[in-house]
Amino acid sequence: MRPFAGSRIAVLGLARAGLPAAQRLREWGAAVTVWDDGESARELAMGVGLHVERPQNFDMLMISPGIPHLGPRAHPLALRAAEIGAPILCDVEFLYRAVRAAGSRARFVGITGTNGKSTTTALLDHIARAAGMVVATGGNLGPPALDMPLLPDDGAYILEMSSYSAERLGTARFELGALLNLSPDHLDRHGDMAGYAAAKARVLKGNDLAVLGMDDAETRAVAAAHVGQMVPVSGLSPQPGGIWAEGSLLRGDVGVIADLSQAAALPGIHNAQNAAAAAALAFGLGIAREVVAAALLTYPGLPHRQERVGAVRGIAFLNDSKATNADSTAYALACHDRVVWIAGGVPKAGGIAPLAPHFPRVAQALLIGQAAEEFAATLADHGVPHRIVGTLEAAVPAALEAARRTGSAAVLLSPACASFDQFTSFEARGDAFRDLVANLANREAEAV
Ligand code: ADP
Repeated sequence: MRPFAGSRIAVLGLARAGLPAAQRLREWGAAVTVWDDGESARELAMGVGLHVERPQNFDMLMISPGIPHLGPRAHPLALRAAEIGAPILCDVEFLYRAVRAAGSRARFVGITGTNGKSTTTALLDHIARAAGMVVATGGNLGPPALDMPLLPDDGAYILEMSSYSAERLGTARFELGALLNLSPDHLDRHGDMAGYAAAKARVLKGNDLAVLGMDDAETRAVAAAHVGQMVPVSGLSPQPGGIWAEGSLLRGDVGVIADLSQAAALPGIHNAQNAAAAAALAFGLGIAREVVAAALLTYPGLPHRQERVGAVRGIAFLNDSKATNADSTAYALACHDRVVWIAGGVPKAGGIAPLAPHFPRVAQALLIGQAAEEFAATLADHGVPHRIVGTLEAAVPAALEAARRTGSAAVLLSPACASFDQFTSFEARGDAFRDLVANLANREAEAV
C-alpha cells in the first residue's frame, strides 16, 4: 500500500510522534524529509536512515503538536509552507487518508475538550474492548496516530484530539465526535477563546453523531450552532434525548444505565460528564446498553488522575499529578469532605484563589515548589492550615502525620501547577509520589 507515492512530505519535530510518523509515511511511498531544531533528535533520525535536511520544497508539512505554526512564535518552516502553499497537517490526517486509501471504512472517533479527553478516550476504549470490537486508541494519549494499525471495516479508531492537532486537520472526517467542555487554556497559541473553540469544534465537522457537553456556556454555544445529529451530555442536569447524571445515576431517556458510585475510578461530577460522553459514543458505535453499563464499573482509571497509589495506616494516598491548573484541582478537592492537600510547582496565572469555595475541605495544605509562598499567602487569607515543606520528599511523611492528626481519610497530591521547577513532567512528579508513598508504607510496616 503506497497511498502517498509521489508526494513530498516534510516532517518537523521528531520527538514522540514525529519519528514513527516519518518512517510510516516513507513506508507508504512518500518522499520524506525530516527536520528538528535539536541536534540529538536529528541524529536519531539519521540513525534510522531518514533523510534529514531543512526542507525547502514539499507538498505537505507535518508539525509536532508542540510547535506553533501561527502567531509571533510560528516556526520558520511553517512560514515557508505558507509561502509555497503547502498545507500543514497533523498525523491523524495522514492516518485517515491512508485508511481510506486502503479501502477500509473503519470509523473514526475524535474526542476533544479542555479537560477529560484522556479519561473519556480511555473509558471508551475500555467499553469497546469489552464489547469485543477491534479498536486502535491513542493520539494525544498513548500511541501516536501513525503508530496505529490499519483496521478492517468494522474497526474503530478512538482518538484523543488536542486543539493543536484539531486545527491541523485537512479532509479527515470523524464519523463520531465529542466536545466535552471549553474553558480558557492555551490561549497563547490560539489567540483568543473564539480561536480555541473553533480549533476544538473542527473535530465535530461533518460528524454522523456529535456528542456535546452541556455543562459550560462556551460548549453550549457550539452546540447551538451545530447542525446534524447531536447527543447532549451532562454530569449535572437532565438532557432529554441525551445522557446525563442525576446524583450518581447515569441515565438516558431509556432509564438508568449505571450507578457511578460503584465505579471506583470515576469519582466526581467531572467524571460523570466523561462517563456520559463515553456512553453516548459507545451507543453511537452500536454497543449494547448492558455492555456499556458493566464496563463503566470495571474501568481501571488512568495513572495520575486521582489514582490511588497506596494506603498507609488506613489513609489513602491519591496521585492527581495531572491537575496542572486550579480548574482540575477543584474537581479533585470536590470529591473529599476532609483531605490533606499537597500543592505547588510552577503556578498558573490566578494561582489557587479560584479554589476558595473548596478550602473548607482542606484539613491541612502542604506546599512545594515555586508556588509555595504565593499559595501560602492565599491560604493564610482564608484561614486554611498550611505549611511550606518545599519538596515532595518532605511532603509525603508530613502529609501522613497531618492526616492522622486531623482525622483525614485521604492525602491528595493535586498540585494546581506545572511540574517543571522540580520534575521533567507531570508523569515524573506522579511517579515520584507513588515511589515515596511505597517507601513510606514499607517503613511504617517495619515500624509496627
Ligand atoms: P485531558 O486529557 O483533557 O487533560 P484528563 O482526562 O487527563 O483530561 O483529566 C485531567 C484532569 O482534568 C483530571 O485530573 C480532572 O481533575 C480534570 N477533569 C477530568 N475530566 C473533566 C471534565 N469532564 N471536566 C472538567 N475537568 C475534568
